[in-house]
This record gives sequence, structure tokens and C-alpha cells, in this order.
Amino acid sequence: MGSTKYVFVTGGVTSSLGKGIVSASLGRLLQARGYRVTIQKLDPYINVDPGTLNPYEHGECYVTDDGAETDLDLGHYERFLDIQTSQANNVTTGRIYQEVINKERRGDYLGKTVQVIPHITDEIKKRITFLGRKDEYDFIITEIGGTVGDIESLPYIEAVRQLRWDLGVENTVFIHLTLVPYLAASGELKTKPTQHSVKVLLEAGIQPDVLVLRAEHELDEDLRRKVALFCNVALEAVIQSIDVSTIYEVPLLMKEEGLDVIVLKKLHIETKETADLKEWEKFIDRLKSSNKEIRIALVGKYVELNDSYKSILESLTHAGAVNNVKVKVVFVHSEDVSDANVSEKLGGFDGILVAPGFGDRGIDGKILSVTYARENNVPFFGICLGLQCAVIEFARNVMGFDDAHSTEMNSSTKHPVIDLMEEQKGVTKKGGTMRLGGYDCLLEKGSLVQDAYRSDMVRERHRHRYEFNNDFLESYKKHGMIPTGINPESGLVEIMEQPGHPWFVGTQFHPEYRSTVLNPHPLFISFIKAAIENRK
Ligand code: GLN
Repeated sequence: MGSTKYVFVTGGVTSSLGKGIVSASLGRLLQARGYRVTIQKLDPYINVDPGTLNPYEHGECYVTDDGAETDLDLGHYERFLDIQTSQANNVTTGRIYQEVINKERRGDYLGKTVQVIPHITDEIKKRITFLGRKDEYDFIITEIGGTVGDIESLPYIEAVRQLRWDLGVENTVFIHLTLVPYLAASGELKTKPTQHSVKVLLEAGIQPDVLVLRAEHELDEDLRRKVALFCNVALEAVIQSIDVSTIYEVPLLMKEEGLDVIVLKKLHIETKETADLKEWEKFIDRLKSSNKEIRIALVGKYVELNDSYKSILESLTHAGAVNNVKVKVVFVHSEDVSDANVSEKLGGFDGILVAPGFGDRGIDGKILSVTYARENNVPFFGICLGLQCAVIEFARNVMGFDDAHSTEMNSSTKHPVIDLMEEQKGVTKKGGTMRLGGYDCLLEKGSLVQDAYRSDMVRERHRHRYEFNNDFLESYKKHGMIPTGINPESGLVEIMEQPGHPWFVGTQFHPEYRSTVLNPHPLFISFIKAAIENRK
């Protein structure tokens, strides 16, 4: 294919309509036709990245291999497209302004007045076309966060309006996602919010080419005609996106509705073939047909919001499909777990996963959960803080260091089994200063993890400040908790196991950032397999 094509996805009426999933589904469909695709998310908030956001605010912070702390939609992009995203795939207003202000301070604007138009909009345009600079992609899909009409989205809308003319009408497509609410009292689906939302876009100078209408009920031909007529789009460009039981069905629905066909048509790309989704369909079949259910306790402190552990939940779903079981995840609030109730809270689960996290709220409940899993031979998976809790628990209850702790929670402990690295000690700034992104990890021969990965060297992503303290390593080995993954450059411990236990693995990295539909993560597959066996 010739020049790169740009698809812009905006949303109207409400947030949370699933723009990320629709964008990722379109990406998957185009990829299934043999095109090279990447997706980018533009976020209108002023944080430079979501790394400093509390998970309650914006859900999980997703980390890319190059160490960017990004929006959780990038997780969907990677899981759907099986691609690696990078810093360039997530841009926030904070980052844009930071760049423009830095340039102004350097004198780059040569005395000009620095303004939203053209300086901010130019910076946004630069970030969008940057992905196309090396001609690596046939399609760049740019999802604009927020809802049209929001004050903070305006510069983005203006930037993509300009890009249509800079790049050429024949190289750009605008998709607008809205909601068609159902009024139960009158039994009707209503199109007015969509009409208004398109009007707002038109006021900003953008005529959408395709409308994706999110609805709880099927849209009939009359309704589609009405929307087409009032919103100036072709009838075939009115696409319905109906609620489904799993997000992974959305690519199939979008294929049925012809979203990829209409996008290609708008770009004057002739095509006879259809998107080949065979592998994807196999995955959905396995996902839906498994009738066995296993129950995993996810012990964490952000459990009120599903999105806080998005990638872990999706990784468990992928691993369930591989093992032909439905994985039922039950959130257990770590603050609610106590000595008195731990067996009641965790009894009856086929596996226990202790989640990542920061700070000391709920830490005792997490440590108690590890004790329960260790003593009762329940498959245990500790991720990041979960590994750190496992290390602390072992030191206290097996090695006899009663006050063992992480210096994150207790800076004066005599047994700092988890501690800050030398290079982290002087760090005071919060944004982007943790150990972030992909690092190699050398696996111990004959270990459980080496068997699961079927490899000696892997690369996994990190997001933490504290590390296993190697001063205590020999003592751990002597007592039966052994390092089975080591960073070959720094010697840092990345994985700990407890041989003799059915499945006890803690990882300092976050394996959940690397599980995709087409490549489910080996550790999650192995954990679920152990949970099934434990059940027998
Ligand atoms: N708070 C711990 C640290 O910074 C663990 C972080 C995490 O679980 N992502 O090391």
C-alpha cells in the first residue's frame, strides 16, 4: 500500500462507550487483511502521564516495553493486535504543554506569542504524524480520549481537523462513536443525542465519515436511515455496536457490520477479500465453550474498581481459554483479611493471586494471604508487591526474622528484605522515576518458570522502586525459597519460587502487560493449570 492512512476516532454523548475496544477491533480487522497497523491514544488531561494517577481515578497504569507509563487502552491495543506499543502511542495534554513550554523557554519560538493555535495544535499534529515517519504502518488509528464538546478536547479536535487537509481527504477517515439510549418507558431507541453530538463535531469543522452507535438493542433499518439522513453519512456507514458478553467478540461484530469495509471504501482501497479471523474465532470458541469453572482470589486494595487490575484480569481470561476453563475472579479486599478470618476469606479458592500495589494500606492482609497459600498448598502467584509480600512472609514465618519488612512500609526494620536500590535513594520526583519497562531475565534451569516459558531468557516489564535485597539471598536459599529469575546485568532477583509447593511463584515484573489473545502469557497459563490440578 502507498502512503500511510490515518483513522481518527472520537466519541460523543458519554464517556466509557468502548472507543478503545472499537479502535482495537478495527485495528485487528485491518491487520487480519494483511495491513500493518498501530494505534495511539490522545488523552486530554494535564498529567504528563497516568503514572502519577491513583488507580481509582483512571484504572490501571499500563507500561510499555520502552518504559512509558500509559493509559490502560494501550493494553487493549496490545492484547488485540499483538503488537508492541511505545511512548509515542500515548500522548497527554500535559506532555504537549510541557514540550511547548520547554521550547518557549529555550527561545525556539523566536519572540512570537505562543498560543493554543498554532503551537499546541502543531505539537499535537507532530505527535500523530510522528508514528508515520518511518513508513512502518499502513494504518495509524488515533483515538481521542474524552467526549466531543469537552473544553479540554478542543485542541485535539482542531488538530485532527487540520490534519485532514494536511494529509489529504483521501488519506484520512473520521469515525465517531455515540450512544443510542433505550427508553424503557416508551420502548424506543433514541437518536437525538447522536444528532446533537454530530452537530458539535460539525461546528468544529469535522464531518464524520462513519458512525458507530453503541446500543443495548438491535438498530433497525429505519433508525439507521434516520441517523444517516440527519448526520450526512452513507447508510452503510452507520454501524451498530451492541453490548456483548466479552470484549473479544467486538472484532467479530465489527466485521459483521462491515466497519473495515467502509473504512477501506472511504480511502478508495479496493478489496475483495474479507478479514481472516480464524485464530480469533478459535479463541472465542474456547472462551465461551468451557463449562468448567475455577475460582481465583485476587487479593488487592483497589478492588472496588475492576479497571485497576485490567491486565491481570485479561491475562487470566486468556489463560483460562488455553486451559479450557472459565476463570472466575473473586476480589478480596486486603484490608478485610485478618488472622481471625483468613481461612474463611480464602478457603475454597483454586488459586490465590496477590496483586501489585503501593504503600502500606492493606499490606498485613496481603502477607496473611501468602501465609495461607503457602501453608495450605494453594497455587500462589505474587506480582510485584505480591512477590515482595511473599518474600517478607517467608522471612518472618520461615526464617524467623519477625520484623522483616520492605523499607517502603518500615524504614527502620532490622531485616529490610525488600529495599531501595542505591540509584533510587536520591530520587524525590514521582513522575517516571521508577524502574520502568522491559528488562531481560535469565531463568534457572529446571525451575518451574523455565518449564512454563520453555525458554532460558525472557524479557518482562517492570514498574516498581523497591527490590529484593540480595544481602539475604543465601539465607532464603538455605530455607527453601529460591531465585529462579535473575537480571543478567544487575544481578537483581526477578523471580522467587518455593520448590515443594504445588505452584508458588512471585515475580518482581508484571507479566500481565505481555499477555495477548494470540500469545497468552506462559506464567498465567501455568498458574491456571496448577489451579485446575489443585482442584482435583
Ligand atoms: N510498591 C512496590 C515498589 O515500588 C511495588 C510496586 C508494584 O507492585 N508495582 O517496589
